[in-house]
Amino acid sequence: PQWGGFYFTGEYAFNLGVGFASDPHNFGRAWFPCFDNFTDRAIYYTNVTVDSSYKAYANGYLTETIDNGDQTTTFKWTMDEPIPTYLASVAIAKYEEVVMNVNDIPVILTSLAKDTANLRSSFENLPACIERFEQVYGAHSFDRIGFNCVPFNSGAMEHATNIAYPLYAIANGSKTSETLYAHELAHHWWGNTITCRTQEDMWLNEGWASYSERIFLEAVYGRARYNEDIEENHRAVLQFAHVQDGAILPVSGIGHANTYGRHVYNKGADMVHTLRGMMGDTAFFAACAGFQQEFKFQDVSTEDMLRFFDEYTPYSLSGFFNQWIKEAGFAHFDILWVLEQEGFYNVRIKQTPRFNEVKYQNVAVALTAFSASWERYDAQVMIMNNEQTFKVACPFEPVYWAFDFEDKISDAVTTDWASLSGSGEVEMPQSLMRKITYDAGNADSILLRIEHHWAPADGTFGVPTGAVISRQRYWTVDGIWGDDTELSSELIYSGLTTPSPEYGYLDNELIRITEDSLVLLYRATASMPWQVAPDYIKNTGSLFDKRGSIAISKLKKGQYALAMYDANLASGGSISTTKAEFRAYPNPADDVLTIEFADKHDCCVVEITNVQGQVVLSEKLKGKSSTKKLNIAKLAAGTYFVGVVTDNLAYDIKRVVVE
Ligand SMILES: [Zn+2]
Repeated sequence: PQWGGFYFTGEYAFNLGVGFASDPHNFGRAWFPCFDNFTDRAIYYTNVTVDSSYKAYANGYLTETIDNGDQTTTFKWTMDEPIPTYLASVAIAKYEEVVMNVNDIPVILTSLAKDTANLRSSFENLPACIERFEQVYGAHSFDRIGFNCVPFNSGAMEHATNIAYPLYAIANGSKTSETLYAHELAHHWWGNTITCRTQEDMWLNEGWASYSERIFLEAVYGRARYNEDIEENHRAVLQFAHVQDGAILPVSGIGHANTYGRHVYNKGADMVHTLRGMMGDTAFFAACAGFQQEFKFQDVSTEDMLRFFDEYTPYSLSGFFNQWIKEAGFAHFDILWVLEQEGFYNVRIKQTPRFNEVKYQNVAVALTAFSASWERYDAQVMIMNNEQTFKVACPFEPVYWAFDFEDKISDAVTTDWASLSGSGEVEMPQSLMRKITYDAGNADSILLRIEHHWAPADGTFGVPTGAVISRQRYWTVDGIWGDDTELSSELIYSGLTTPSPEYGYLDNELIRITEDSLVLLYRATASMPWQVAPDYIKNTGSLFDKRGSIAISKLKKGQYALAMYDANLASGGSISTTKAEFRAYPNPADDVLTIEFADKHDCCVVEITNVQGQVVLSEKLKGKSSTKKLNIAKLAAGTYFVGVVTDNLAYDIKRVVVE
């Protein structure tokens, strides 16, 4: 069954006002005649007659309960505030109430009697949530707050004052799903009070509600928890949003198929975090509350938000809305070099975006300098160009410069940092390095920051001849420490396209058949040539599984990147000693291509690419034999290159014509 519509499930009857697959998504028409869009608003009177053992909840407040004298009861509900059709709702069951009053707003939570203890426990932090949302977004617009538990297994629905909330989220009284009620409550500002005018701007509802989950975490659990959650989401978006949505998409301007996709929810939330980071808390929250007030019970567009929020900053936010929100892909910045000149420090910043070639402008961000004794100086700068030098009057001699040390903007970098004393091991999951050991040496403590850049490693200053450097990622290791500090770490490389955060979509463009030629490159600064890194060991496991790990025994300040590099080829040396003698026939071929080796092999990988260099067929052939047959019936007529790698890493490429 598709998500949305009207449900009669066991002892419950309820609706979900949105149809994920229906067009339009608005799904009021599933149960009443209406103009089903985001712009038409109405007030509602909902009368529900049920068997007298049941209770019916609808939008607004209860005006009358009528005993009809025939074992039926009629519940009359009134919704004074105008809402679009998708926010209208009823929920019917043998409900019991858990009642609260927060900031003078009546709160009614309902569930079956057997579930009320769980309900109470799971919603323990709801008052704090309501208080924070009112504080930052302005007063709640509706007459009450209501959640009804329903037997549903996938998400919740933010019907105004009458939220459909899944039973699984209160199971065992657990608080593990509490960001779900924060999300639905946040919709009472983002979605219910102001509503996206079109499905293309769904991020104004869902991106903001998803971001508000983090506002809730920040209020209840503190800033560290907020940062952790923001960074985790940021990494998931960078790594998988384009895979999960099937395309690299913007946040605004999304079509019907992805209205409720990852770019809208997760990247949307990530970008709201960025907007807050650029504007600063005072201006950002003032703009949020002002926007709610200005457009109360109206539909809005991204342009409306740009025009309104722009009034709260001394510089233009058009860069943010037109690029971060409306362009697919991610901004990415890195420090190229820092040069001292007459008491100033010239800091050179370069953009190498992920998945696009946009020149990001009006990017408000901090450059942070640290001295050897951990004094800190923040310089606010405004990025306008692909490459740009900022003159910073740092009052001390800096030993470490960081771009966006606080991760206030979500460019294509995930980071972890730690202050470390003595020796031990430290977890830095967002750095994508692991088994990090440290010995601070004589220092009281060291500051270690590892950045994982989800962007092309810049090769401007040189790579070893013949090396193909990763277009997907590289690392920067830096911080405050001296020569007597010792660090080591390990990183995972993977050419796999799996949903696993540890292995998925990291090096799939680089590692195509075998990791035999994979090397780790290093450079001390971003303005030096890359060289093969010292002090590392590659643990390949099988050479054909496209994954393994690299242990770095002496982790140094600087940058690390993966590359494919065959020293034999680079030096012009012959590869004949490892050439896999094979024939491919018939040529021209039709349905079946036979690969014949001079000797027998347990395993070989065959990859066929077209003349554009796209892989059209990749197959692992097993079984000890000297001939292997390949079904190529699906290939269109044309010229192809057949590459073969055998288990002893011999390889060769042949040109084949398919008819
Ligand atoms: Zn939502």
